[in-house]
Amino acid sequence: MRTLRQRHLDVASKATNGFVPIPFDRYVDLNVQNNPSVDRNEFVSRLREAVDARKAGARCACGALIWAIGSAEVGAACFTCITGEAWPDADYEIDEALGYTAIV
Ligand SMILES: [Zn+2]
Repeated sequence: MRTLRQRHLDVASKATNGFVPIPFDRYVDLNVQNNPSVDRNEFVSRLREAVDARKAGARCACGALIWAIGSAEVGAACFTCITGEAWPDADYEIDEALGYTAIV
């Protein structure tokens, strides 16, 4: 039973490419809390644009799908090109950009 559950989790985490899904509004709250100088409305529109682009299949110059959260900050690019890290490890991505519907 435990093995089956573990296998299930592995499949689930591979499906998200190592990203931790977070609802749009929750990430906005988090970002504004951590960066009090950020204009909330302006950030919402930037992030919304990046999420919509990702959902529409926007790709980085390298050919990978863009990372909506990073793209909201630095312009459309994938996780690897933005961070220099090969693979996300507990990095956030907006749930709907990953193909989830937020359960709130
Ligand atoms: Zn790239």
